[in-house]
Amino acid sequence: MTNEYDIEVKLLAVTPEAERLVETAGRLCWDTQDKTGTMPDRIQKWLEVGHESMIEHAYATFYIRASRVLTHELVRHRLASYSQRSQRYVKENEPRYVEPPEIKEEGELAHQQFEEVMKSCWEAYRGLLAKGIKPEIARYVLPNACESQIICTWNFREIRHIIKLRSSKRALPEFRAVANEIRRIAKEIAPQAFEDL
Ligand SMILES: Cc1cc2nc3c(=O)[nH]c(=O)nc-3n(C[C@H](O)[C@H](O)[C@H](O)COP(=O)(O)OP(=O)(O)OC[C@H]3O[C@@H](n4cnc5c(N)ncnc54)[C@H](O)[C@@H]3O)c2cc1C
Repeated sequence: MTNEYDIEVKLLAVTPEAERLVETAGRLCWDTQDKTGTMPDRIQKWLEVGHESMIEHAYATFYIRASRVLTHELVRHRLASYSQRSQRYVKENEPRYVEPPEIKEEGELAHQQFEEVMKSCWEAYRGLLAKGIKPEIARYVLPNACESQIICTWNFREIRHIIKLRSSKRALPEFRAVANEIRRIAKEIAPQAFEDL
């Protein structure tokens, strides 16, 4: 797998004291609140037996810059809140797009062909805008590779699900790059909830 996708994943917000909140919720189920903080692998043990609902109390919000191909797949994850840069109301004046490293690796000719298609897409787009066509219509000529930006809020259970599904070898390479970044950040903010991934 290549990691050279020009993507960006940034953490914007996370539930304060997320792991403590998760443990509080889990311990409430068993009336063992007095043991809070005494067992570093408590959350992992719950996850091992499929007792996962308590991690839904913690949320994280990410900013992601990637292609429209990526965001199209991303928003299939439904247990979420999304805000995406609009192609209806924002003009894509600058040709911003994600070139898959697989195309560059194929050789200079493939790279050149890709660049030419991007150029002609944006020429057509600007031409339509110049004729007075609205951005929401002109965007029909923009490519899937067009860069997009999206803010996503998921609970920790959904984040675990996305990491598992999208960091697998079967997932889209660009999504693998994004999922690997999400996993790296998730392990930093809540190691007990994500250390097995
Ligand atoms: C390798 C790969 C190939 C794919 N190929 C295609 C494809 O060819 N065509 C295509 O259309 N999609 C494809 N998908 C998308 C896939 O079908 C899912 O839509 C996407 O991965 C979202 O995942 P999800 O449905 O598990 O979960 P999420 O929306 O993230 O939901 C999380 C979990 O909640 C539960 N859940 C959520 N909503 C419901 C519900 N309504 N009913 C019951 N349980 C629910 C499920 O357990 C689900 O796994 C592909 C995904 C992958 C990873």
